[in-house]
Amino acid sequence: MKIGALKESYEGEARVSVTPSSAVHLQKLGHEVHVESGAGVRAGFSDAAYEAAGVTVQPNAAALIGAVDVVVKVRAPSEGELRQMRRSQTLISHFWPAQNPDLLELAREQGVTAIAMDMVPRISRAQKMDALSSMANIAGYRAVIEAANNFGRFFTGQVTAAGKVPPAKVLVVGAGVAGLAAIGAAVSLGAQVYAFDVRPEVAEQIESMGAEFVYLDFQDQTQDGAATGGYAAPSSPEFREKQLEKFRELAPDMDIVITTALIPGRDAPKLWTGDMVAAMKNGSVIIDLAAERGGNCDLTVPDERVVTENGVIIIGYTDFPSRMGAQASELYGNNIRHMLTDLTPGKDGIIVQNMEDDVIRGATVTFDGDVTWPPPPPKVQ
Ligand code: NAD
Repeated sequence: MKIGALKESYEGEARVSVTPSSAVHLQKLGHEVHVESGAGVRAGFSDAAYEAAGVTVQPNAAALIGAVDVVVKVRAPSEGELRQMRRSQTLISHFWPAQNPDLLELAREQGVTAIAMDMVPRISRAQKMDALSSMANIAGYRAVIEAANNFGRFFTGQVTAAGKVPPAKVLVVGAGVAGLAAIGAAVSLGAQVYAFDVRPEVAEQIESMGAEFVYLDFQDQTQDGAATGGYAAPSSPEFREKQLEKFRELAPDMDIVITTALIPGRDAPKLWTGDMVAAMKNGSVIIDLAAERGGNCDLTVPDERVVTENGVIIIGYTDFPSRMGAQASELYGNNIRHMLTDLTPGKDGIIVQNMEDDVIRGATVTFDGDVTWPPPPPKVQ
């Protein structure tokens, strides 16, 4: 089949869905690879680099969509992109079906098979295609780099002739994929790292990374940490109160707070309140990774850097993976090629849309003129 990567139309997006190296793998599956001219430039991949990898460069989006059977991209498609697609073509990209019901309907109407990278189930076998995790890992790392760049002090403690410097204190709230990446990066920069999660089973992992798990004085922490498929369940009001009480106690002492708390399908829980921000020291930094879903901090403004009256910097950027466009494209390109590997079982360039396969079924949101989202729960965990 012919697989083609579109140039991202979302302003400022630096990622690309196929890299020269992932294109080589796709060709080994028997596919022919195309790319829209300039698609990889912001991630550091020139048209010439694609051509050297055996890829055909198409002059524009219309020519690319016209030439291929499978269109791949990073962000959810625009309405215009979907309208240019034809019956029986396949689209593989993020889709966010819950947030984009109109796009879902349009994909169905167009007769397009849409495979949503954000709907890949979080089961072991699908880890290699799990784009949410590969992007969250980058976001967690980059959140620490952004915090360090905005913090006017060292992360690591030092004893110098000019004076003793204490290590920065970093609190990570939510220790899922992004949170664990943030913990790893902050520990490696020498900070004293604390982390909290409603799922107590992550305590051991946090401590093995050299951070300290923040325990609550709560009788039955497990009742709130009950998790399904690596995700948390909502907290009870009593638990939440205990959590906020603990955060109020920690706020004056923390230099950096990185929040990543999320329960899928819900708005981000408000966990870092205005009074906590007011209690923080001048020059402290909050990086709110949940900004796109409303933010974990009351004062976060999505895509903005805000400085409060007491000098606390609050960053709500929603494009951390794009800020590391080369790395993000490399990992997303790998997620896409693994998805296409599963879709090409014979390695003969023939795509088989096996709706009995948990991963393919879970990610497919429109197929054969129907909306196929939400999927049934996966058979294997
Ligand atoms: P994840 O599901 O792996 O982790 C979320 C963690 O939050 C889980 O461990 C969960 O137990 C925990 N949690 C839920 N409710 C909590 C609460 N009340 N208190 C403490 N912890 C709580 O998710 P992820 O893949 O790590 O993504 C984390 C966040 O980062 C998401 O909001 C995601 O949208 C965001 N993200 C942002 C960017 C960006 O550029 N800003 C990029 C990628 C991901």
